[in-house]
Amino acid sequence: MRLALYDDGAGPRTGLVSGDRILPSGVPGGMIDLIAGWEALRADLARLEASGQGIDLASVRLLPPVPRPGKIFAIGLNYADHIAESGMETPPHQVWFTKAVTSVTGPYDPVQIRKVSQTVDYEAELVAVIGRGGRHISREAAADHIFGYCVGNDVTERLWQHRTPQWSLGKSFDTHAPIGPWITTADAVDPHALDLDCTVNGEIRQSSNTRHLVFDVFDQVAHLSQAMTLEPGDLIFTGTPGGVGAAMTPRRFLQPGDVVRCGIEGLGHIENRFEPEV
Ligand code: ZN
Repeated sequence: MRLALYDDGAGPRTGLVSGDRILPSGVPGGMIDLIAGWEALRADLARLEASGQGIDLASVRLLPPVPRPGKIFAIGLNYADHIAESGMETPPHQVWFTKAVTSVTGPYDPVQIRKVSQTVDYEAELVAVIGRGGRHISREAAADHIFGYCVGNDVTERLWQHRTPQWSLGKSFDTHAPIGPWITTADAVDPHALDLDCTVNGEIRQSSNTRHLVFDVFDQVAHLSQAMTLEPGDLIFTGTPGGVGAAMTPRRFLQPGDVVRCGIEGLGHIENRFEPEV
């Protein structure tokens, strides 16, 4: 099932995407409420999806499916080719940083190049959305705690990322976490067999498959949950493959007017135009 947050002119609401149509879920509250109540809701929503109702998907504005997650964690150095291009060694432990929850933006919304920015870069990533919360989740149980998956761009200000040993500030600029276009529920996804790619103005920059993850998605959930309680709607950015602009020769950072498209097999794509902060 595919679940979106959208606005058809009457304000944000959750909906089901079926083919090229979207229909309201009818569930009160936002996406996190829907995720938290999923077990009790899923049968009714499946029936609703099969009803054939809805309006043209192209007629609504898709919003970030989880606009204000409780937390966003992102793993660094998690594809071999990206580790190599970064001049790093494969880390013995998972390398985590946070992205501020205020960095979330929509799948087709503009991304700001902030006034202080000269080195903005893209990172196409599979994003896992936590369903049932918990702590000390085993690797074997991790799949049961993932609600679904979407596409994300871990937009990064490289100078701000690397001038301190702690990356979070350079990863947390406003609008630097576009996600979407919707959440595809985990029952319909093998998270470790998905082609993903990223283009800038139509030019292919990243092309890989999630089978190349160093620490896979279930390892990531298990590891994080040893330290903290994961909650419904929490987002996990699972790493980016090689091909980032900072690793090109010469280095190529995003400029005003650039359009970055990140796509993942079966999950759809997000596409964001980079614009100066106003
Ligand atoms: Zn990343």
